[in-house]
Amino acid sequence: MTNVLSPSSAATPRRLIVLGATGSIGRSVADVVEHTSGQFEVEAVVGGSDAHALAHMAIRLKARIAAIADETALQDLRAYLAGSGIEAAAGSQAVLEAASRPADIVVAAIVGTAGVLPTYAAVQQGRRIALANKECLVCAGAPFMSAVKTYHADILPMDSEHNALFQAIADRPVSSISRMTLTASGGPFRDWTAQQIAAATPAQALQHPNWSMGPKVTIDSARLMNKGLELIEAHFLFGIEADRLDVLVHPQSIVHGMVSFDDGSVIAGMAMPDMRIPIAHCLAYPARVATRVKPLDLAAIGRLDFSAPDVIRFPALRLAYDVLRDGGALPTVMNAANEIVVAAFLAGHINFTAMNDIVKRVCDIAMRSHKNITLTAIDEALHIDAWARLEAKECVTTFG
Ligand code: NAD
Ligand code: MG
Repeated sequence: MTNVLSPSSAATPRRLIVLGATGSIGRSVADVVEHTSGQFEVEAVVGGSDAHALAHMAIRLKARIAAIADETALQDLRAYLAGSGIEAAAGSQAVLEAASRPADIVVAAIVGTAGVLPTYAAVQQGRRIALANKECLVCAGAPFMSAVKTYHADILPMDSEHNALFQAIADRPVSSISRMTLTASGGPFRDWTAQQIAAATPAQALQHPNWSMGPKVTIDSARLMNKGLELIEAHFLFGIEADRLDVLVHPQSIVHGMVSFDDGSVIAGMAMPDMRIPIAHCLAYPARVATRVKPLDLAAIGRLDFSAPDVIRFPALRLAYDVLRDGGALPTVMNAANEIVVAAFLAGHINFTAMNDIVKRVCDIAMRSHKNITLTAIDEALHIDAWARLEAKECVTTFG
């Protein structure tokens, strides 16, 4: 697990940069920071296009600078920050500069491929990255992890399953691990028939039973595509191949990940389903800080259920396994096409099952051309990402 962590030598308070500060993860980061008064200070907050929310977060966290990706939002951001002493900046270059500022930890919580370059900018500064943005690794896993090594950066997994696996592995060698298991709640359609799932509306798909998250990851979760992306994330984070990665449906979302060792021992990572727990773990690592999350009470929960995932009703999971096994740039293609279809579904342009059909179709088109590519550079991954988006957009027009 080279470069997936070593204890920090940073002095307290730790300086944070929060990429994606206005999102669901960003708000949970703010909650953890506020509850640990004085342990963290915020250098920069970065957001996409909501100037009001970003200014609010910058003031709340007493950030030095707020950078917004949407250039046209600069005037508004300045106006909302007037009198606060917080610097405002806008545009993609400003976002990269904010991500490159001095910090002990950079929280990577921008959604989607938009997070790749800002997170990479922080990697190039040799920072510790608390990684929520799984799409970074699905889009550009090999060059990204190689850059982590080259620039002496390190990664703490913030995604709850990977965080649980990381804690369960501790300092044991990955070679002693026989299997890693990620759990999935099963989402809102866990017990629905294929016919019911086919007719699911965006409003139904956005009702996640256990987690409150941003719209993209919620739609991914309703299809088990999120678990598919997480398999690929685990592959790159821990250097473990598809055949040693399992998924178990676990409706209570209390066990997040399990590591099975060669001797038959299994270590499970458990916690309440609340992102403030993995966030607090990453921010304080290797120390521990208190969170406002209510303690795990297994007696009150009563039972924990597990079952194998149904890849007939949830074909996105099977596609992700195939893509991971086929390798090359296929994960990049799947990830990019997936972003397009989720946006199209949320906009009402395609139905629920068309999301998987289109992603599969774009991956099939890419099979011959992209299977044997060895991705060596982030730009190369982004180039393929752009191609896959165009293909997916064409399919959306045809399906829509
Ligand atoms: P969200 O939609 O709630 O927030 C996304 C954030 O990204 C916002 O701050 C938005 O302004 C910002 N953003 C979007 N486009 C941007 C751009 N071009 N430049 C700069 N910033 C931009 O999403 P979320 O649920 O917080 O998820 C963020 C990431 O964390 C995703 O990759 C998701 O898969 C991952 N994740 C989320 C959860 C969760 O509980 N929400 C759990 C595990 C992992
Ligand atoms: Mg997760």
